[in-house]
Amino acid sequence: MTALPPALDKVATLLSRLPGVGKRSALRWAFHILGEPPSYARELQQALAELMQHVRFCSECHHLAEDERCPICRDPARDPTLLCIVEGVPDLLALERTGSYRGRYHVLHGALAPLKGIGPAQLRLGNLEERIANQGVSEVILATSADVEGEATALYLAKRLAPTGVNVTRIATGIPMGGELEYLDDHTLSRAIAGRIRFG
Ligand SMILES: [Zn+2]
Repeated sequence: MTALPPALDKVATLLSRLPGVGKRSALRWAFHILGEPPSYARELQQALAELMQHVRFCSECHHLAEDERCPICRDPARDPTLLCIVEGVPDLLALERTGSYRGRYHVLHGALAPLKGIGPAQLRLGNLEERIANQGVSEVILATSADVEGEATALYLAKRLAPTGVNVTRIATGIPMGGELEYLDDHTLSRAIAGRIRFG
């Protein structure tokens, strides 16, 4: 990008650091911003500044928030006895989209991955036991991913929470809607049979 004015090159370089954005798309976006009325760049600048200034982590569940506590933790209609542990904010948003969960959350911001240097201390676990005790939590739902790291995290949490006496459950994994048994991998199928539920 050396034939470009340095200011344009800088914007393109910064944009290219976003996930899924290559150098060429980044440059196309930078050109696009330049072609918009100046008010657009000002609004973008302002919005980014406000994002960094106002958005932080909820002191209880570690979801994103603009206040000390996020709207879910502040909502008196949410069931405080149910606590769903997720790896990240996108997982929380996915569960919220279903509209079928009315409890609260605890966002870890990661999963255990010893080979990448991510142990329990790197996850947002410090206030978990305190929340369970103080908020009268009766069930903790482990909604970490069904991959190696997610499973390891779920196992760790189940063991760690055993002394609290709280009921620990794991989200069911298995057959997707429309899925045919003969095409499922062995691991998915064995989890599905192990996690079967009463029917009818
Ligand atoms: Zn919260």
